[in-house]
Amino acid sequence: MNRLLIKNGTLVTLDDAGTIIENGSLLIEGSKIAAVGAVPDVPVERVVDAGGGVVMPGLINVHHHFYSTLARGFSAPGVPAANFKEILERLWWKLDRALDAEDVYSSSIIPCIEAIRAGCTTIIDHHASPACADGSLDILERAFREAGLNGSLCYEVSDRNAVGEGIEENVRFAKKCRREGDTQIQPLFGLHASMTLGPATLERCAAEGKALGVGFHVHIDEAECDAEESLRQFGALPIDRFQQAGIVGRKSLFAHGIHLDERGRNILADSDSMMATNPESNANNGLSATPLLEIMRTGILIGLGTDGMSNQMISQARAAYLVQRATRRDPRVAFGEACAMLLSNNRRICDRVFPEKRGQLMEGQLADIAIFDYQPFTPMRATNFYGHLLFGLVQAPVTTTICRGRVLLEGGKIPHLDEVGLRRQAVERARRLWERIR
Ligand SMILES: [Zn+2]
Repeated sequence: MNRLLIKNGTLVTLDDAGTIIENGSLLIEGSKIAAVGAVPDVPVERVVDAGGGVVMPGLINVHHHFYSTLARGFSAPGVPAANFKEILERLWWKLDRALDAEDVYSSSIIPCIEAIRAGCTTIIDHHASPACADGSLDILERAFREAGLNGSLCYEVSDRNAVGEGIEENVRFAKKCRREGDTQIQPLFGLHASMTLGPATLERCAAEGKALGVGFHVHIDEAECDAEESLRQFGALPIDRFQQAGIVGRKSLFAHGIHLDERGRNILADSDSMMATNPESNANNGLSATPLLEIMRTGILIGLGTDGMSNQMISQARAAYLVQRATRRDPRVAFGEACAMLLSNNRRICDRVFPEKRGQLMEGQLADIAIFDYQPFTPMRATNFYGHLLFGLVQAPVTTTICRGRVLLEGGKIPHLDEVGLRRQAVERARRLWERIR
């Protein structure tokens, strides 16, 4: 079995005691961590010198939209969108409809590259490309495998272009994952949001997802329009529709929940459902702040995602606490909660989506590791690590990223990908895509 030794690093294990090991080593065998701290003297194929930097578990993103990648720098035609519904109608629903298969590939491989460079090794994506829905998740999967990252994929079903669009793609892909029995890529059953899901479609999704035994990944109450349109069109609130359809539960992931009221939060808590909050994206869309502390008080497992906006996970934790402090006018709140979402809750969400454990430097866990060029100039301990995370590591360069025991980034290079060529290709795809949308 291939062995890799990381030496000369400050190991931030994120174990339950928050153990930090100075000048430590870590041994990898195959795709798993074999020893942490004092490692046995065994022959190894490769040595990575951490250079005194911080060695941490690879970061995790629990809500992403790769399909939004080629929107960077693009302005939707017409007058600027004044609210969330207009943002969807004028930008995202035009963009995703215009994507072809090659655009989907560029939209997927580029964020994989950025994630590698940001030390992120597991991504839960929520995909839409109506013009090429069939087979689109295979294209995302190809990008994940070429990059070497872990991914959970789903297609966001909605009735906005055609009734039940995307159901077959979710079913086909989940069956394929089941058949192949691979642990790197896992399915969820994707749905867009209550406001774009008619009763028949929601019922079919629930039946298919339950028959497959996969969890659901869906937006809920991101803006007021979700509840308003659900009531107007279907006579019930999103949370009640989802509860009645039976898609709440411990394997299901609900993104946003900004306007979920106390009763709705209790429904998610009582069903042991999971949530994903996306503070940078929400602020960018001019939405209200998520009632994060109230959600956490119910005991709901809530993690952090980027919602397609970036691939930088530490900055999401930073945004989460900054937004809470600004809106609550209270400099005492949300710091620990924001860090715990990123470093603890995201891994616990992965425990329900993937079969292999990750997110702690512990023997037997996946060898998913990020090494940061960060030399603290104040004491760094278990009790103040969050301060180093949000004020130091957030801006420190990642020098090495390892996923499943494979070195993906070393010395500033991703040796197995032609980054320059892939970027050039993406620029060309984006140029053509933007012309089609205008
Ligand atoms: Zn989203």
